[in-house]
Amino acid sequence: MLRLGHRPGRDRRVTTHVGLVARAFGASGIVIADVSDVSVVSRLKRVCEIWGGRDFLVVDGVNSLEYVTNWKKLGGVVVHLTMYGIHIDSVVDEIRSLERDILIVVGATKVPKVYYELADYNVAIGHQPHSEVAALAVFLDRLYLGRELRLIYSDAKLCIEPSPRGKKVVMCE
Ligand code: SAM
Repeated sequence: MLRLGHRPGRDRRVTTHVGLVARAFGASGIVIADVSDVSVVSRLKRVCEIWGGRDFLVVDGVNSLEYVTNWKKLGGVVVHLTMYGIHIDSVVDEIRSLERDILIVVGATKVPKVYYELADYNVAIGHQPHSEVAALAVFLDRLYLGRELRLIYSDAKLCIEPSPRGKKVVMCE
């Protein structure tokens, strides 16, 4: 997924959460567009070290327009999440059935018009303003039909034993 408009300092926590949701809900990586933020990258990599996902891509400072254009040239589909788009219920089955690599784009502040034009799909997770973290989570959940919530990374060091009360964390086998 591609995170647009990250403002180092101000958006550090939200962008970290976008990355955590991407990883936990089955995306292959997070690309932070146009700016570098070592602290977000290192926090996400640390989570991958412990909870698995060393192959989960975490990169920053990537030219976003070039990235989107190349993605399309290579045959991938671009899905921009925006409250102004087409309701998710109308398009998610079609997007899933394409069986193409999907680049999910979310913004922070106002997203430049060019991304609305470049996107193959502008998708609304409802038509109310909320959050890039929520929008990404709901989109991935609907895309994967809820199966992503069973995801466990094979290279995880720590695993959780579900417990009705308290916390049980064990070394993974
Ligand atoms: N005011 C900004 C705009 O006009 O684009 C939106 C800011 S919002 C806090 C940040 C991001 O959350 C948006 O760029 C979009 O990716 C996502 N988002 C927020 N509400 C959404 C919704 N209802 N559907 C899809 N994405 C949404």
